[in-house]
Amino acid sequence: MGKYMYLFQGTAFSSKSSKEIEILKDYLFCINTDGMIERAVAPEDAEYQSLLDTYQGSDNFHRLKEGQYFLPGFIDLHVHAPQWAQSGTALDIPLYDWLNTYTFPLESKFSDLHFAQKVYDDVVSTLLANGTTTALYFATVHKEASLLLAQICASKGQRGLVGKVVMDDPEQNPEYYRDVDTKAALADTEEFIIAVQELAKSTKQGVYPVVTPRFIPSCTDEGLKGLGELAAKYDTYVQSHCSESDWAHGYVQDRFHKNDAFALYDFGLLRDKSVMAHCNFLDDPDVDLFAQTGTAIAHCPVSNAYFANSVIPVAHIHAKGVDIGLGSDISGGFSPSLFDNIKQAVISSRMLEDGVNPSLPAEERGAPGSRITIHEAFYLATAGGGESLSLPIGRIQQNYAWDVQVIDTKCPSAKLPIFDDNEDLHDIFQKILYLVRPEHIREVWVQGEKVHSR
Ligand SMILES: [Zn+2]
Repeated sequence: MGKYMYLFQGTAFSSKSSKEIEILKDYLFCINTDGMIERAVAPEDAEYQSLLDTYQGSDNFHRLKEGQYFLPGFIDLHVHAPQWAQSGTALDIPLYDWLNTYTFPLESKFSDLHFAQKVYDDVVSTLLANGTTTALYFATVHKEASLLLAQICASKGQRGLVGKVVMDDPEQNPEYYRDVDTKAALADTEEFIIAVQELAKSTKQGVYPVVTPRFIPSCTDEGLKGLGELAAKYDTYVQSHCSESDWAHGYVQDRFHKNDAFALYDFGLLRDKSVMAHCNFLDDPDVDLFAQTGTAIAHCPVSNAYFANSVIPVAHIHAKGVDIGLGSDISGGFSPSLFDNIKQAVISSRMLEDGVNPSLPAEERGAPGSRITIHEAFYLATAGGGESLSLPIGRIQQNYAWDVQVIDTKCPSAKLPIFDDNEDLHDIFQKILYLVRPEHIREVWVQGEKVHSR
């Protein structure tokens, strides 16, 4: 029967670098019992035929059908799990009003575990069905419901990184939705970290606690400092929002007389395991600080079009050595699909490059050199996300987790426009990225386990 848990045969697309993809045509992928790709074997390799002879016909051999391809599972670096309940609504007002009018009242309902179960079950299943195999989640201020989200990720097979949100400043947060006080916020966070680390011991694909100050405006100095200390003590991931909008960026400058990045750094919140969402208004010293500390950026292109007042210069920041991945930012972004965010990342970068105000002359309208290609956007959704989290995910290659989505371009209800049996695989890859919808995603695997099929 052979020594591998599974042997897969098929064509895979994976990032070789941020600008180039690698096409692994008709490869064999040998998956071990830990769910890792132990070997990726090309047809011209000597052992190819003997591996095929050993595994073909057995239950653990899977060959893709004609028209099917492997993509790495997507890594969503910024999701507000509770906000799934309002996705697609309330995108018409500024960030500050949006939080207070829609979002905080919704998130406060997650004190009810029954309600939390319904929404969290659905958001995790929905993201898996959209090809997202790893997600970095904000939950709510409620410790129990946050732990429930981690448990749901664990049981559904998604690699979840989950944060209990801290909002401890009574001046800045509504009475109906905040931590009781700073001491309680830190104690709840510590208990949450310990509980998730315990859960992780029995979770094959991994589940991780994340220290999560909502953003500086929600938190006291003492709270932020305590969270930085907890992150160091337990060596956890950290997530927050950084310099998202004119209002948020200006608020921190008024309070600390410095930019968000340096204020977060002072509280010990910029670490190799930190991922900051949005970051549209980073200046060059902020970007250098991110590069030095290993802090990554969750680029949320759909959400940014509504709330960020600008387009983040991804190409410029990435060239300076900062890790960047993609985030859906449900529900500031309406879509649970990173395919949608890949497209928007490209579109927004093109609009930044050319500029958008037709009354200006062409040479004054845009920011030259800003565009990214569809290959770079794919990299952000996959390998860039893995590098941001320092985990062996986001690529289909040896010593990476078997986190993949099986794309069916011949799905009967929605065939992709491929009319030539010998069409160039580079073109097929681009058609997949621009045209795939959830019905094309036939199977999703995480750490060698099938977690979704249709
Ligand atoms: Zn957010």
